[in-house]
Amino acid sequence: VIEMKGLNKWYDKFHVLKDIDIQVRQGEKVVICGPSGSGKSTMIRTINRLEEHQTGHLIVDGTEMTDDVKNIELIRREVGMVFQQFNLFPHLSILDNVTIAPIWVRKMPRKQAEEIAMTYLERVGISEQARKFPGQLSGGQQQRVAIARALTMQPKIMLFDEPTSALDPEMIKEVLDVMRELADQGMTMMCVTHEMGFAREVADTMVFMDQGQIVEYAGCNDFFNNPREERCKAFLDQIL
Ligand code: ATP
Ligand code: MG
Repeated sequence: VIEMKGLNKWYDKFHVLKDIDIQVRQGEKVVICGPSGSGKSTMIRTINRLEEHQTGHLIVDGTEMTDDVKNIELIRREVGMVFQQFNLFPHLSILDNVTIAPIWVRKMPRKQAEEIAMTYLERVGISEQARKFPGQLSGGQQQRVAIARALTMQPKIMLFDEPTSALDPEMIKEVLDVMRELADQGMTMMCVTHEMGFAREVADTMVFMDQGQIVEYAGCNDFFNNPREERCKAFLDQIL
């Protein structure tokens, strides 16, 4: 459902993504890791057009991503995102934060949107806080709301960019449990994370990026048991 082929991106003269080739099948779980500044966020943000690439192909759910606004809208409906920062609307209640997109983008009746929203808020352990505002919640709780918000859109693909790196340790597990559950239900997922325990359990495919390139691209077992590239080995030794 996602294909990148010879994809390149520059920030001015800085070549941030170099000949990226990735194929993600329906239901596949891909975990992306690599040192800071290697282009992981840029790569994942390219998929839903938060960033544009300059050369190569990006096909999401059968549609070639270009500057066509219609395609961008289509893809943002199908692709849910959870990022490191929570990006909730501070002036809206938790419930309104979660239902605003399904109601306005998906044209879902409010009652239905609220029911779905409550299901996901319950799953991430926030349902009692539904009437509060983001400022009244901890950072960890806000991130769980952000996950519930993405899921309430019932996306086909979920992208995560270091979803737990801003969370307190005791909240990381709850969030990873939600993600694991999603994975078990067959969601197609691309996740930037350094939670290697989670990666070992959930990933079908591991990607290691360094300096804008994919250095290692392997099945989960191969990746952890015999990484081919020195840079990848060194990185794993450092974080495991
Ligand atoms: P981290 O692990 O720290 O999140 P990352 O692998 O996600 O790192 P990116 O955020 O994709 O890395 O950044 C890749 C490179 O592109 C970095 O060198 C960064 O400084 C640069 N970069 C990112 N965003 C921009 C931008 N808007 N303009 C110019 N350069 C940028
Ligand atoms: Mg990043």
